[in-house]
Order: sequence, then structure tokens, then C-alpha cells
Amino acid sequence: MKLSGLLPGKTARVRTVGGEGALRQHFLDMGVIPGAEVTATKLAPMGDPMELRIHGYELTLRLADAEKIEVEPLQQAAAPREKQDRRRYSDHPGLGEEGKFHPKGTGDPLPEGTKLTFALVGNQNSGKTTLFNQLTGSNQHVGNFPGVTVDRKDGVIRGHADTLITDLPGIYSMSPYSSEELVSRDFVLKNHPRAIINIVDATNIERNLYLTVQLLEMDVPMVVALNMMDELRGNGGTVDVNAMERMLGVPVVPISAAKNEGVDELVRHAVHIAKYQERPVEQDFCGAEDHGGAVHRALHAVAHLIEDHARAADLPLRFAAGKLIEGDRLIEEKLALDQNEKEMLQHIILQMETERGLDPSAAMADMRFDFIRRVCGECVIKPHESKEHRRSQRLDRVLTGKYTAIPFFIGIMALVFFLTFFLIGPFFQDLLADGIGALRDLADAGMRSAGVNQTVQSLVIDGVFEGVGTVVSFLPIIVILFFFLSLLEDSGYIARVAFVMDKLLRRIGLSGRSIVPMLIGFGCTVPAVMSTRTLPSARDRRITILLTPFMSCTAKLPIYGFFVSVFFPERSWLIITGLYLLGILAGILAAHVFKNTLFRGEAVPFVMELPNYRFPSPRNVMLLLWEKAKDFLHRAFSVILIATIVVWFLKSFDFRFNLVEDPHDSILAAAASLIAPLFAPVGLGDWRIVTSLISGFMAKESVVSVMEMLFRDGLTALGSLGAACMLVFSLLYTPCVAAVAAIRREMGRRWALGVVFWQCTLAWLAALIVRLIGMALG
Ligand code: GDP
Ligand code: MG
Repeated sequence: MKLSGLLPGKTARVRTVGGEGALRQHFLDMGVIPGAEVTATKLAPMGDPMELRIHGYELTLRLADAEKIEVEPLQQAAAPREKQDRRRYSDHPGLGEEGKFHPKGTGDPLPEGTKLTFALVGNQNSGKTTLFNQLTGSNQHVGNFPGVTVDRKDGVIRGHADTLITDLPGIYSMSPYSSEELVSRDFVLKNHPRAIINIVDATNIERNLYLTVQLLEMDVPMVVALNMMDELRGNGGTVDVNAMERMLGVPVVPISAAKNEGVDELVRHAVHIAKYQERPVEQDFCGAEDHGGAVHRALHAVAHLIEDHARAADLPLRFAAGKLIEGDRLIEEKLALDQNEKEMLQHIILQMETERGLDPSAAMADMRFDFIRRVCGECVIKPHESKEHRRSQRLDRVLTGKYTAIPFFIGIMALVFFLTFFLIGPFFQDLLADGIGALRDLADAGMRSAGVNQTVQSLVIDGVFEGVGTVVSFLPIIVILFFFLSLLEDSGYIARVAFVMDKLLRRIGLSGRSIVPMLIGFGCTVPAVMSTRTLPSARDRRITILLTPFMSCTAKLPIYGFFVSVFFPERSWLIITGLYLLGILAGILAAHVFKNTLFRGEAVPFVMELPNYRFPSPRNVMLLLWEKAKDFLHRAFSVILIATIVVWFLKSFDFRFNLVEDPHDSILAAAASLIAPLFAPVGLGDWRIVTSLISGFMAKESVVSVMEMLFRDGLTALGSLGAACMLVFSLLYTPCVAAVAAIRREMGRRWALGVVFWQCTLAWLAALIVRLIGMALG
């Protein structure tokens, strides 16, 4: 039968895994391999995707993808092996081995003063961020990977000034199928870190070791940090660290990143292996007897075949051999095999397929999991069902329940937005705005009494304080919004939202994960764009970024309020709600267009892990907030400050650089009148409207303040049709400078300009349609 037909609660064994390319590799990497046991746990409220349990963790899968997996139903799950519990194990694995397997102090260390660079690699949710923060303190900075925009953090390990540790994106394997995986792989291959710190979630050890096994093949000094040991031990499990070190051939250090246990020891090991360049002892995981040894023989044959090529291409041999068998094109190109060798390679692979009865990728994945099963059988005492897991299941019964999931989701989001935008946010915003206002008055009075030049004074007061000050006053709202969102994310709830909403978002070519940035977009496009970094694929990230401007941000509310109160006072709520819905509708249409033109590719399959709910670590949350605040302030005082000064300049001077009394005579007025005819067809041809729209590019709120300033004789000349056009135009036209800058940072300059251009075009067309309909109706 097909996996999609497996009823919740039933268990089956995987027979074959269909599908192709990225999707299939992803299945295999997540442990969905022939022979694995899966239990269906539940369906999402809308009937798709499904959740299953495999290798002791929860995985989500779309039904359409589950169709491709053949399973064979089992009567009941295999009982956990009893004898494990009776095995004696060393009591205090917490101490590690201090050189038992890697003679300390022998060999030649790297010369004094060499920078010890480390890559921190691990699965998503294994505690990388937590460990990174423990290792580096707050001494970190955020950079961008060239090409792919994934957050990458570098930091110095506390107490070791000559180290540099890089936090790589969370990955599940070294396959080149997602941008993150490629980034991490390239980092290890090209940047040549001196050592790898591989963080492994001990409560989910089988799945996590899959990456470990692949990292060992990279032939880079490595230490395994066995994280979450507190949780594992708390539930009666443990790991025989000594035995695991022996089997993996690298130091294994049990730690708890959250409780800062074992971290010092981890650092000692890491520094040591890096300094002495102690490479993994073991890189051979293919058992000579496993399933007749077909994979073993093929791997060794390929390794011998390509030895010289791998050396020439500067690739780790075992890694290259494995990737060739898996059919990795990138590695194949790099190796530059000649025709004869290629043919031999094909023969070897074919022979393996016939003997093993599995295709190459599945055979390799199976080989790795075989080894992992041996390691776990020897070294790991599985915990009884953890209280964290039971708690998660209880919570999930409500939060992903068939009838409760969506109401709870709406309720939780409403609460977050209410607290952020109506209760806590405005309070602090007013406080900050008052502070800035007081500062401005002080500066004003100071400059006046010191007799500072009028122009300079106007620049400081009107430009810096009014412009940048208004933007800075949004800081509390942004920080508070991020606070709640990081609570939701760290606790594991966001993963559930993605699970629940996947079916809806799939219709527009996205996956459930894109829901988060879109929700934030209703608050502010800037953090929304920033939050797309959590999305797993570059394609999804880009589409999502392009859709966030359609979610009406809070800065547009003043515009809506202003026009509605003047022109449509009786139908205000109807019109404002209508505008929000219109934005969403336009976004859905745009998504369809993107899906069928610019981003034709396939959405990443929604194969996602659902972690247990956890209490977020306050330290992580605080560090995140601090980083966001810094980021935001940095932007306010760079891009926004410069743009503000430019607009102030344009509206204060005429072409002969004389200060103007009446803004009608300013460069801005002249320039605006030049483009005003463009806006005439949609009824917005007045230069003052054009000016206010342009200043809205700085910050949407300023549309209102500029209009109030320029339309001294009242707005009524605009007429209600003009107001309607203006509302629709404001809803859809270019996001503000800050948002465009954020888009630029994520996607590059050309996309950012593209967004400005097509949002304006779209807004123009929509306003035209409104005008034509309005005129037709009289
Ligand atoms: P990342 O996705 O790999 O960066 O993982 P995070 O650092 O964000 O951690 C994921 C979750 O695991 C967070 O909720 C952490 O608070 C939690 N966590 C991290 N380390 C530990 C640990 O040692 N013990 C326990 N119980 N939880 C941890
Ligand atoms: Mg993280």
C-alpha cells in the first residue's frame, strides 16, 4: 500500500521510495529509506499534510509526496530491545576522554598564532544558536553569504582570542539540494575550516548522526557535541560516550548548551583537535558483510578509481566517492573523469544496484543508517517516552486538532498583534516619541539661542528629528513584535502553524512555512522580509519576500484613516477591511503570476520536522532582540537618514539653491510637476499629491503629514473618486525605503528596483480601474 493510505495510529515498514531528484533525496536524508519503520500519527486539520513518526521523531509530509512511498503494514511496532537496559555503561560519560584516542601533545601542532577557524554544523533545532551564543557570548556579528542570503554568524570563542567560529545554516545532509546544504558544504570544502564542531541532538540521535556520518567523510578534524543531554538523562536515557568515540573515531562531548554544561570541555577538545589537526580516525562506515557487502565493494572500488582526481580537485576522497555513487553532478564535474573512468564508474554502480537491489541513493542512505543503527545499538540507551514529548502531544491535540487548530491560530495571532500594535507597542512608542520630541525641542532651543544658521537648524529639526525620529519611534513596536514571534518560534509553535496552513499556501506555489513572514507583513514589511531567512529554499524565500508588500502594513493605517474620515465617514470599517482584503487578493494573484513566470521551479517539499515544544531560552531571546534593535537603528541612521536629508533638501531649495518660503517654488515641486502628468490618468495629477506619495516612499505615515501641510485649502477638491483612487494606490504602490532596503539586502539591488517598479505599475493600473469603474457608475 501507499504511505498516504496509512491510517493514523498504524505502523508500516517502508518498501520503496519513489519520486525523484531533490524530493527523493530529501526523503532518504530524513531517514525515509526502505526497511525503516513508520507510524502515521495524524493529518493536518485540512486533511493534508500528514505527520508521521520515524526513527523516533516526528516528520511532516504532504499526501501527494507520501503517495510515492510504498509501505507494507505491520501488525504492531517492533518492541524496543529489552537487553539494552541491562547493559552496563560507564557512569560518567560527562568527562570525555582527554586524548585517549587522540594522543595529546604529540604530532606537530599548527604554528603558534594560526587562526583556528571552526564551522558549527548541525541539524535545524539541534541547539546551534544556543551553543553559538554560549561559545561567543554576545561578541558576534551578522554577515551575509554571497549569492545566497542566509544568515551566517561569526564569533570568537570566549577566552580563545585566536579562534573564529562560524554558525552555518541548519542542515540535514550534505546533498546539494537546498541552498543551505550547498552553502554549508561549500563552506567546508572551500573555506577549509580548521575543524568542525558537529552538534547532535541526543534526544533525536539517529536522525542527527546521519549528518555526522557525512561530515566525517569530509576528512576535517571534528568533534561531536552531544547536545540536550539534560533532557535525555532526565528521561532515563544515556549515551556511552566512550563507546561512541571509539565507533565514530572522533571526540564526543556530552553537553547541554542551554544549561552551559560541558561547553568548556567541548572547547578544550575542539581547540586541541584543530591545533593538532587530528582528523577522524574512521571514515569507513560500509560494513563488508552488510547485505552481502555490495555497497562496501562499490565504494572502495570508486575510491580507488578516482583517488588521483580527488587529490587534484582538492576533494576529500571518501566524500567524493560517495557523492559519485549518489550521482552528484557538481562533484562529477569537479573531478573531471575521463571517458574510460566514467564508464568504469557506471559499471561499478550498476553492479552494486544489481547486487543490492536498491538504487544508488537509497543504498547509500541505507548503508549510513545501518552504521548508525550499529552505533546506537552499542552506545545509546533510549529514554522512555519523555515528558517533553508527552507534553507536546497534549498541546498538539489542541493546537493542531481538527477543529481547534485554526481558531487557536487566529486567536494567538490576534493576541500577538493586539498586544504589539495596540497595547504594549504604542505605549513605548509614545514614550519614545515624547523623548525624541523633548530632545528636538531642546536642540531647537539650543540652536536658536546659539544663533545657528537657519538652514542648518531646519535640516536638523525638520530633516533629522522629524524624519529619522519618526522612524526610530517604531523601534519598540518592532522589538516587541520580534519578541512575540521569537517566543512562538522558539517554542516550536511556528512549525505547527506551517503544518496546519500548508494546504492553503500550496495553492499559491508556496509551502506552509511562508505564512510567518506574511503575517508579520501586516505589522511591518521590514521584519517580514527579514524573517524570510528562516525559509528553507531560496525560491520560496524570494516569492515570499515579493508577496510581503501586499500585506497592508500598519504605517498605511494613518492614510486609510485620514481619507476615510474625510470622504467616507459612514462606511469607514467596510472600506478599511476591504483594502486589507484587496491587498491579500492582489498578493494571491501576484503569487500565481510569479509561480508561472519568474519562479517556475518546484516548491521545496514540505518534509519538515516537528520538534517538541520547549521553553524558549531567555538568553537566546534577549540576544535576538538586541540584534534586531541594533540592525534597525543602524538602518535608521544610514539609509533613512540619507534619504530624509535628500527630501528635506529638495523641498527646501529652488534650482538656484535659494531657500524657498513656499514649497510650491522648491525643486521638489518642480520635479513633482514633471512627473505629475504620469498620475493624471488615475486622477492624482496634482503635484502636491505626487509629492506626498513620493514622501510616502520614505515612510508611509508621511503621506498624511505632507498632504496636511500642502493642502492648506482643504482636500475636498480631490473628490471621493479621487480619494478612492488614492487609497488603492497607497495600498499597492512601492514599499517604503526601509522595506526596499531590506529587500535589497535579501535579494540584491535589481530585485529591489524591480519591486519598486512593479508595485507602482500595479498600483497605477488598479487606481485606473477604480477610476474607470467610478466614472462608469457616475
Ligand atoms: P538551532 O535551530 O540549531 O539554532 O537550535 P536553537 O539553538 O534555536 O535551539 C532549539 C531549541 O532547543 C531551543 O528552544 C533551545 O532553547 C533548546 N535547547 C538548546 N540546547 C538545549 C539543551 O542543551 N537542553 C535543552 N533541554 N534544550 C536545549
Ligand atoms: Mg537557530
